[in-house]
Amino acid sequence: MNGKTVMACIEAAHATLKKHTDEIAALDQQIGDGDHIFNLLRGVDALLAMRANIEAEAFAPALEQAASKLLSTVGGSSGPLFFSLLHGMAKAAQNADTISVEDAARIFAAGVDAVAQRGKAGIRSKTMMDVLIPVSSRFVELAEDSAAPEAVLDALPLTAEEGMRATRDMLATKGRASFLGERARGHIDPGARSSQLMISAICARLAQDRE
Ligand code: ADP
Ligand code: MG
Repeated sequence: MNGKTVMACIEAAHATLKKHTDEIAALDQQIGDGDHIFNLLRGVDALLAMRANIEAEAFAPALEQAASKLLSTVGGSSGPLFFSLLHGMAKAAQNADTISVEDAARIFAAGVDAVAQRGKAGIRSKTMMDVLIPVSSRFVELAEDSAAPEAVLDALPLTAEEGMRATRDMLATKGRASFLGERARGHIDPGARSSQLMISAICARLAQDRE
């Protein structure tokens, strides 16, 4: 794991967000203010523009650079949350060419804990946490079961998808959608969808790079 790996993940996230821009914009028009995907793309575009800097770094500083760039470019409520995810991961990360499943699970969990502390949202809040928390728990479980990296990269997208789909029937307790009460029901949360898509794309990319 190094800056090149981080950049490969950013590319994968960018490609899937581009592909699903209209869909995520429509979700956010239904229960938010419509800007989520554009906020996020502004941040990811800024990361692509600093490719050389990120690629030159070791793992933790590459995450840290990406985190601060997201903080200054994404905005909305999700900007500080994505910052917390990468910053939390950076603080827990060590710089080594390869990391174990156990270390990767611990690093991701540290990022998700940082998002939870910042956003004060838990599971069933109809937010990105409904994807991040189950994925993090599953990751830790798989690590405890000594799962192989390939098995983890196959399993986490399924957990992410389940979490994303579950937001459809929830009432929102955090963010703009919480002002809608019952009217939020029946719509998937845009932040859950964007997080799920990024997790799936990143897992697919990491699996492909292992082949
Ligand atoms: P804003 O709500 O300020 O317009 P964005 O459009 O950038 O922010 O992001 C909206 C997404 O952020 C929501 O779909 C939801 O998933 C996520 N979100 C909002 N508030 C929180 C929170 N407190 N914790 C975790 N995620 C949240
Ligand atoms: Mg918004």
